[in-house]
Amino acid sequence: MPHTRRDHAVVLGASMAGLLAARVLSESFGRVTVVERDALPVDVLATGSRHRRGVPQSRHVHVLLARGASILEDLFPGFVAEAEVAGARTTDALGQVRLLLSGQRLLQTDIGLRSLLCGRPLLENLVRARVRALDGVRFLERHDIVGLTATPDGRRVTGVRIHADGGEQETALDADLVLDATGRASRAPVWLHDLGHGRPTVDTVQVGLAYATRTYRLPQGAMGKDQLILNNATPENQRAAVLAEQENGLARLTLAGMLGDRPPLDPKAFDAFAASLHFPDIFEAIRDAEPLDDPVGFQYPANVRHRYERMRSFPDGFLVLGDAVSAFNPVYGQGMTSAAMQAEAMRAVLADDRDARNGKPLTWRRYFQAIAKAVNPPWQISAGGDLAFPDVRGRRTPAVRMINAYLPKVHAAAAHDVDMSVAFIRVGSLMDRPESLLRPDIIFRVLRGPGRRHPRG
Ligand SMILES: Cc1cc2nc3c(=O)[nH]c(=O)nc-3n(C[C@H](O)[C@H](O)[C@H](O)COP(=O)(O)OP(=O)(O)OC[C@H]3O[C@@H](n4cnc5c(N)ncnc54)[C@H](O)[C@@H]3O)c2cc1C
Repeated sequence: MPHTRRDHAVVLGASMAGLLAARVLSESFGRVTVVERDALPVDVLATGSRHRRGVPQSRHVHVLLARGASILEDLFPGFVAEAEVAGARTTDALGQVRLLLSGQRLLQTDIGLRSLLCGRPLLENLVRARVRALDGVRFLERHDIVGLTATPDGRRVTGVRIHADGGEQETALDADLVLDATGRASRAPVWLHDLGHGRPTVDTVQVGLAYATRTYRLPQGAMGKDQLILNNATPENQRAAVLAEQENGLARLTLAGMLGDRPPLDPKAFDAFAASLHFPDIFEAIRDAEPLDDPVGFQYPANVRHRYERMRSFPDGFLVLGDAVSAFNPVYGQGMTSAAMQAEAMRAVLADDRDARNGKPLTWRRYFQAIAKAVNPPWQISAGGDLAFPDVRGRRTPAVRMINAYLPKVHAAAAHDVDMSVAFIRVGSLMDRPESLLRPDIIFRVLRGPGRRHPRG
């Protein structure tokens, strides 16, 4: 950008962000090529549970929040029903989700917001099948992205250098636009530096998170009416867990520890960790369940946000999206929804550009400002929330301290006031902005203490 030609866009990475970017770019570019290192399964269902090397996090619980599900439905009409047919569960974001937060049991009621529950490979396969069906989109799998090509002055990216798996030589792929969606390991900062633009500043909040996950067949009714149970970490008990129903009658349990407290992979010790959570609900649900695999682990050192919108110079014809811009503590379940919100923001920017062809040219800065706006809410929730833990390293602004003192009070209010539960989960589902919890009427209800009780229906 600015885009003079809109013939060929190349998307780097065929995970959730790359797929959604390809969908949006296919509206503006004649051809879109998605380059991916892994081989990509074609048959959605037969390979539904197969994990790819490039997405090692796929073994762990992946919830698609209501906002993400609604954007996917918008981009791919009929997607949610199709996912249900393929075995995914749609779950009421409060009525069927048991939230055990800040040592409180939040009240539940149906609110009509649907989150999507299924294994990550199935979800990705379904999205990829929709993208494959788009006119003008092709996948170049088993190709490693080696670097960018650019004009000699480094001011315009002209394509990418790629290397076929098992091939001898690099080849160049020309493009009018290159979009990097290669996730947390994105090399965009290095590429930008090499082109003479410097690196973006990076915000980090170190959480030292470790995950361990196991799949089960639960006894009938083990989760009651609920399809997901979330027990969050608190400064008093820094262990968290999420148990979620998946396709084919399975359930997946992810345990999380912070700051070096690693959930064990030994099955007995894994159970003991589950039993050490603040609430007994999750352990009780799995106690008599049939485990179907051994626990697998994952480590996640930090929330990381690249501030591309603050760079002084940037090449035309290059953009970044998804985890490559900002990766969040996964306990909040926001990454895929954030990728969807960023894709939505990109779509608005591109549409604006189409309308204003002869007016103000579209710039990288306008794009990254729109992306930053989309990233702000999940970043406030995850990075801000993690700073409630005294040993987590990061910048604590007065606003962050204030919110972290306030949030447990919101949870406490939501344990006796169902409207507060609703207000909270609308923010947690990324439907409403975090600031909505600071509306005067909400603050009043939080400070008022126990009032109207409203048991779940
Ligand atoms: C443990 C864990 C649990 C999570 N749980 C949730 C959850 O419950 N809900 C949620 O919404 N999000 C969750 N997330 C986040 C979610 O996985 C990501 O936000 C989401 O996948 C979007 O990421 P992405 O597409 O930007 O990058 P990634 O998913 O990391 O994909 C990057 C892609 O680029 C490819 N690639 C990388 N380098 C190259 C190269 N040089 N050449 C070719 N290809 C390359 C990779 O193979 C991969 O396909 C979780 C993350 C983790 C770590």
